[in-house]
Amino acid sequence: MQKTLSALIELQEIDNRLDELREERGDLPEIVEGLRSKFNTKNETKIRLQEEIDASSKRVRELTVLIQETKDKLNDENNRLYQVKTNKEYDAITIEIEVLQANLKNYENELVSLNESVDEKMSVQTQLESELSTIKTELEENEQDLKERLSETEVEEKELLKSREKIVKDFNEDILSSYEIVREAREGQGVAVVSDGHCGGCYSYIPPQKVVEIRQQKKIFTCEFCGRILVWEDK
Ligand SMILES: [Zn+2]
Repeated sequence: MQKTLSALIELQEIDNRLDELREERGDLPEIVEGLRSKFNTKNETKIRLQEEIDASSKRVRELTVLIQETKDKLNDENNRLYQVKTNKEYDAITIEIEVLQANLKNYENELVSLNESVDEKMSVQTQLESELSTIKTELEENEQDLKERLSETEVEEKELLKSREKIVKDFNEDILSSYEIVREAREGQGVAVVSDGHCGGCYSYIPPQKVVEIRQQKKIFTCEFCGRILVWEDK
């Protein structure tokens, strides 16, 4: 039983260190993941916006040509007005001029609002680019940190897991499972060392007779209050 108890202490130490390593890594993996998805979302917006800007710019070029063409036609029609021979001809040209003027007005209005929206989108684009570059820097820093931290702890973690496996392999299953259950419920601590007549986990009082028995290490005792397996350590 003494062997089991000291194996339990060893197991708890290994688990503590494993918890510590995971703690050190902390929320870095989540931070990296979050930054990556933030970057991708903004980047998609930027790509979509660029497509819209390109389409608008194409339409601006078309409109510029259309406006020039319409102005030329208007000019021609106005010249023709001076050469008309009949009223009918005059009316026909006047109608044609009205149509051309209406078209010109529409083209010009469309051009103005397109230019405005392109300007607006381009300023959003500039803002997005600066945000993306900030996120990228932050992402790269965190990725580097995570990489370093993983490489620092990887070897130790592997060793610890190997030692843990070795201990757990020939462990009494009931004791192991009660250790695991309490560990789960008590912030990672399934074992508590008795100190000055108190449970080292929850600081509850343990009667002297029980302390003596725990010290003899012939049986497994658990704390009545927190359920942790009570062990004795010679100082
Ligand atoms: Zn306790």
